[in-house]
Amino acid sequence: MPKSAHEFACRLVGGQFNLDYTCRDQKNHLRSKRQRELAYGQAGSMLKFFRDKIAENPSFQYHLQLDCEEHIANIFWVDAKMLLDYAHFGDVVTFDTTFGTNKEYRPFGIFLGLNQFRETTIFGAALMFDETCDSFIWLFETFLAAHNGRQPRTIYTDQDTAMGKAIDEVFKESYHGLCTFHIMQNAVKHLTSAKGDDKDEVEEGAEVEDEEKEPHILTDFGVCMYGYEDKAAFEEAFDNMRLKVHKQTWLDSIYKVKEKWAECYMRDVFSLGVRSTQLSESFNNALKNHLKSDFHIIRFLMHFERTVEVKRTKELESEFNARKKIPRIKMSTPMLVEASKVYTPIIFESFQGEYERSMAACCRVLDGNNRFVVAIASLHGDLQFEEERIVIGDPLTKTVSCSCGMFNRTGILCGHGLKVLDLMNIKTLPTHYVLKRWTREARNESIQDREGRNVIENPKPEAQLRYKDLSHKFHNMAHRAANSPQCCLLLESALDSVAPRIEDLLNAMDEPYKDKENVDPNMQQIDEFLRSARLKKKEVPSTKLRRKKTWLDKLLKGRKPCKATEPTKKGTNQQKKKERVQQKKKDDVQPEVQVEKCDNNKGVNLELQDCNDIISFDSTL
Ligand SMILES: [Zn+2]
Repeated sequence: MPKSAHEFACRLVGGQFNLDYTCRDQKNHLRSKRQRELAYGQAGSMLKFFRDKIAENPSFQYHLQLDCEEHIANIFWVDAKMLLDYAHFGDVVTFDTTFGTNKEYRPFGIFLGLNQFRETTIFGAALMFDETCDSFIWLFETFLAAHNGRQPRTIYTDQDTAMGKAIDEVFKESYHGLCTFHIMQNAVKHLTSAKGDDKDEVEEGAEVEDEEKEPHILTDFGVCMYGYEDKAAFEEAFDNMRLKVHKQTWLDSIYKVKEKWAECYMRDVFSLGVRSTQLSESFNNALKNHLKSDFHIIRFLMHFERTVEVKRTKELESEFNARKKIPRIKMSTPMLVEASKVYTPIIFESFQGEYERSMAACCRVLDGNNRFVVAIASLHGDLQFEEERIVIGDPLTKTVSCSCGMFNRTGILCGHGLKVLDLMNIKTLPTHYVLKRWTREARNESIQDREGRNVIENPKPEAQLRYKDLSHKFHNMAHRAANSPQCCLLLESALDSVAPRIEDLLNAMDEPYKDKENVDPNMQQIDEFLRSARLKKKEVPSTKLRRKKTWLDKLLKGRKPCKATEPTKKGTNQQKKKERVQQKKKDDVQPEVQVEKCDNNKGVNLELQDCNDIISFDSTL
């Protein structure tokens, strides 16, 4: 396998002489990696992996939550690019968790958003122990701290109670929206099964009637979710729908949180057009295979990195295309030409669409006080008008405020507003209507991490640039000094005196985490720490700790995942537990890493007696 991989790499670079490692090197590398995994165990290898990342780029962060036994429960990590992405695009965030079928049932959580090309971008990831409110609170607080405490304007999640409580607790400045996809899944489950549940109570005739109504109820519900801009109309439609359903429990419960999912309550919510957590769908699918029963944390982390890399390559391509291709401008008006230079191509397309609509708008002044009624005609050639909107314009401040609320939601000015700007003879796009996050310059700002360092996405090219600058300087100096023996002596002695200081500096920088985490700078101790690190294992049947699967999940999977403690594995489990207990006894080193202990984690904070009970119970199996 290493041989074929080496041959492939040789072919890619045009021959083995162009490759700076041999097949033997590669074998050794693979072997040492495997040995490292064996030496440290999963948790130790994971910590080593994270530390290597920090050595590559000091802005990388990982955070662990330990349980009362110092075992790793929750894990959160974020790299330099994620920090930058959140700083530029962290206004709307979706958070979602997914399960594989790994025996530990560790949910994988991911924070996502949209970049300037409306492509999915990643803000942070987590491997969690469970989905309790406490775990979510830790995760969300850690996420915010990593991003310098900056709250998103809007966050979308699914309708999980524990998660919802944690969101309310931590994201106090954000609007919390519920994913419409998940709600619709629940609607299918509850509104269509209501008939079955109520079988005893409902007469036969009514049941048939219900069956006919089912599709209507779901359609009605969909319309309530997306269709009504007016709250009174929504309330009326919802009441009508409620009459059609015999069992109303679910409808009542979803009604209580209507502000989080009904269009009419979200007219001014800054959402960028996002209404669900479906951004994570393709990402989760790519990762799901690696959360399976042979779950190995390092392999998972590496696969995660590759998946992230694919997304980032796509963004680079978009960036390249945006520079290369000029978007098609339908009319060379000053505003469109300006917008084509400022916006990324995809956003310009949207803007141009609204501009086109503004050309088809009819307008009348409402009361001579800068209030206008604007109606846009259909762009299909007939004079069918859309709903009228009220726009308040102010020529002095160059502002237009439209009742459709599109700018507040998406950051792109609507056709109604553009029409009124034109009426006020404003022919260029006012800067306050250009959201930086949608522009070609969206990333043009330096960002500091929580240590106050400028975040650099990839430090290596920076080093190459510095090398180039220094070489140039040295070369010029050497060229000048070579003419005089005295100058040469001076230069040489200066270099000799500075060389040891540079070495000292480099040596100090080679061990960034030692200083930061106050670990004794003794390699043996670090080694000891990596060896003794343990992931928290689920000792109790995990069903209570896991969120219930949705109806659709069950339908799609069609089978239950295997249980954590299979009889065939009792030997190894027992062995592991013994090892861990022994390990714990001799393990009196308490290394300080970036961790927090959970004092009150449900299901985690097992009393010693309970642990012993479980161990002895397992032994009898
Ligand atoms: Zn409008």
